[in-house]
Amino acid sequence: MALDTLKDVVRKIARSSSIDKHLVDEVVKDIQRALIRADVNVRQVKEITDAIKKRALSDEPLKSLNPREHIIKIVYEELLKGVGDGLEIPLEKARIMLVGLQGSGKTTTTAKLAKYFKDRGMKTAVIAADTWRPAAYDQLKQLAESIGVGFYGEKGEKDAVKIVKRGLEELKDYDMIIIDTAGRHALEDELIKEMVEIEKVAKPDYKFLVLDAAIGQLASKQAQAFHDAIGIDGIVITKFDGTAKGGGALSAARQIQIPIAFIGSGERVDDLDRFDPAGFISRLLGMGDIKALLEKIERITQEEELDPEKFLKGEFTLKDVYKQIEAMNKMGPIRKVFEMLPLGMSMKVDDDALEMTQEKMKRFRVIMDSMTEEELLNPKIIDGSRIRRIAIGSGTSPQEVKELLKYYNTMKSLMKRMKKGRLPIKGLKMGF
Ligand code: GDP
Repeated sequence: MALDTLKDVVRKIARSSSIDKHLVDEVVKDIQRALIRADVNVRQVKEITDAIKKRALSDEPLKSLNPREHIIKIVYEELLKGVGDGLEIPLEKARIMLVGLQGSGKTTTTAKLAKYFKDRGMKTAVIAADTWRPAAYDQLKQLAESIGVGFYGEKGEKDAVKIVKRGLEELKDYDMIIIDTAGRHALEDELIKEMVEIEKVAKPDYKFLVLDAAIGQLASKQAQAFHDAIGIDGIVITKFDGTAKGGGALSAARQIQIPIAFIGSGERVDDLDRFDPAGFISRLLGMGDIKALLEKIERITQEEELDPEKFLKGEFTLKDVYKQIEAMNKMGPIRKVFEMLPLGMSMKVDDDALEMTQEKMKRFRVIMDSMTEEELLNPKIIDGSRIRRIAIGSGTSPQEVKELLKYYNTMKSLMKRMKKGRLPIKGLKMGF
């Protein structure tokens, strides 16, 4: 099944106003397929989808998230459980050791990290301890020179542990030391043994496992073996610029519950970024809008929400209009708020009365700023002379003040109808 189809299903949820089991089952099936196509570990796919099924129906949806957004939020959280918080590396004296299979991008990543820390003002050096792949020495030396960081290596020396020992001695004036180690084509005892010995000598503050984004189903098992041997602190996923979606590497991180720290997305030394969870999952699922959703969630949880149920509790006043306008600034037009109403229900709302441009919103706020507390709480008292006073005070016209009052009355009657249960609220649908 193509990822496009997943989008179609998710779109379908967007159109439905509530979440039911059938809908969740349908979308979960497609998410399952998308994850497997992206190389997420099969066992994990099952765990993740079970959790999504459970949570989609039991979690209270955040106000103003539609069912689609609600499910995407859960998918996102489940996929990144334990691995998505990134890894904060303070700019202090430290040693980083890189491990991984041959060809995963260790040497390139060593140089990229060196540049990353050098660019942040740290005195940085690298140690070439990959004695398995002879070209690694020249490759790293050249890269170090081009970046302008310190380098230590011993061409011809086969004992990586000795190189690291001498390198650390030589480079003791440096703040940040990054050690490239040997890889193999597959995990084997020799490699593990050497890694463990280097780890003992180097005493690294951070041990990064470098994984190719294209690594498939075997990734989890490999990560576990590396983790068991030396204890991994962070994952670097390389070659994210290719076609691979990185699901195998994500599974590896999830397997050992270690954060993804960096993403390599090219062959140049600048092509290294801090892990961006939203970007990563967007790509994994083939959906481009996760970032926007997360920003929205952040916005609405941090700031006051437009909550019709809250408005329904008490008398609807101009103060509530004020709050609505504030909320609309954050969430989009009020028209969208009314899209939450079941389809086909005739709204009989004057179109113009609900049309709210940014400009009008600003004018309304200015007008309300010129009203007294009493007027805001009890707009009924606003007669002709008060309208004139408010217009003068706010630098607007009586016509505009009347327009605001008309808007208020329209909203008020809508709220009343909702309160009577004639316009049930099924959850807000915002323009997302
Ligand atoms: P090592 O054996 O683990 O040290 O791997 P290398 O650092 O030599 O990388 C193997 C190959 O992958 C080289 O050709 C690198 O240029 C390439 N490579 C490493 N990282 C990336 C990346 O993020 N994107 C792309 N496109 N290529 C990469």
